[in-house]
Amino acid sequence: MIEPARTLRALSCADDYDPDSLSVDAARAAIRRFLRPVTTVERVHIRAALDRVLAEDITSPIDVPGHDNSAMDGWAIRFADVDPSQPTTLRRVGESFAGNPYRGAVGRGCAVRIFTGAVMPDGADTVVMQERATPTADDVTVAAGAVTRTGQNRRLAGEDMKRGAIVFRAGQPVRPAELGMLASIGVGECTVYRKLRVAFFSTGDELRSIGQPLGAGEVYDSNRYTLYGMLTRLNCDIVDLGVVKDVPEALEHALVSAAATADVVITSGGVSVGEADYVRDLLAKLGEVLFWKIAMKPGRPLAYGKVGGAHFFGLPGNPVSVMMTFYEFVRDALLILQGRRDVPPLPTLRAALAGPIRKIPGRTEFQRGVLVQDGDRWTVRTTGEQGSGVLSSMSQASCFIVLPADAGDLAAGTTVDVQLLEGLV
Ligand code: AMP
Ligand code: MG
Repeated sequence: MIEPARTLRALSCADDYDPDSLSVDAARAAIRRFLRPVTTVERVHIRAALDRVLAEDITSPIDVPGHDNSAMDGWAIRFADVDPSQPTTLRRVGESFAGNPYRGAVGRGCAVRIFTGAVMPDGADTVVMQERATPTADDVTVAAGAVTRTGQNRRLAGEDMKRGAIVFRAGQPVRPAELGMLASIGVGECTVYRKLRVAFFSTGDELRSIGQPLGAGEVYDSNRYTLYGMLTRLNCDIVDLGVVKDVPEALEHALVSAAATADVVITSGGVSVGEADYVRDLLAKLGEVLFWKIAMKPGRPLAYGKVGGAHFFGLPGNPVSVMMTFYEFVRDALLILQGRRDVPPLPTLRAALAGPIRKIPGRTEFQRGVLVQDGDRWTVRTTGEQGSGVLSSMSQASCFIVLPADAGDLAAGTTVDVQLLEGLV
């Protein structure tokens, strides 16, 4: 393994590496090279595994379903007994309920009343849906053409999962569907990676906490709350270190204590031109951190590196920039550190611009947008004012409109990529 600090230094000397104009993709790729997933694991009840990452392969101990069974309420029959061109009358011989099967066999010319999930009786191979059959006390008449092939409406044993098959590989995130799958194979506990510990604090002399009065030029610290929300949704263990003044000793103390206990340290503010210098000196002393100007808007200044054993992300101070850089860089870094093997890019959709957008070529822009379904296509409009301090734009947005670095002004109707802010799982 390459020692991270040395690699960071090597990276900063690489020919094509320009910290004053780094593309979003290059920055993301550079960060990825330093990420080593956690290795400690825990054994937990499957409920507690929700939003964690599996640290073991899971093999199914059983076939799911365990037996051939009916996919609907109807009549279990032998396909060869029915005439597809005219109604066929069969003799009723019994009933098969879910959890209470018919014990006998279905002989020639016979039918068994069957319900969804009930075991297919021996001899029967096909199910006629109840809407296509007319029962009397002793018989049932199957309509012409009610079934067209052997095995219709029959679920096969093991069709969902075969005994001995690998259900999940280590690195699989556990979502509601995985919880259900684990339960369906009778697995009540699993091994997951430990949670990531993420410490964060806000920097700025102008920041006040909720409950304190605001003086001239002072603002409430909102970044700690958006970070709290984003990190909680990623199921991290959170250490909120509050607001730290722009005083070197205070920053040093906060950074050292954060790095001592956390896997990842996130700060906001203090990395813009003018403020970066003493933070830069401090980080040079405590670790190996690079300051980047990302060719993106918003979120231009970003610092990344290692402080002690912890990963360090120095995010810009503006509230929108914090969220943007978190979603574009920190989020997938955390997913990788959590042990996820395949981290897909944020889901994107193609949508038509509802109105024109002015843009200067050179930087990738992430505008806050609102998606609207317009017949069979999606259109997207901006939320309006796009300043990096306008946090209400994030609240109104359902997506980011991603405008490529080389794009200039865009006319209404232009097809653009949008990243969805909400997913189903
Ligand atoms: P900075 O990157 O420190 O120069 O901050 C840029 C802008 O973001 C300034 O207007 C700050 O007041 C504002 N800002 C910085 N940190 C926060 C915070 N935690 N909450 C709200 N606004 C902030
Ligand atoms: Mg500041």
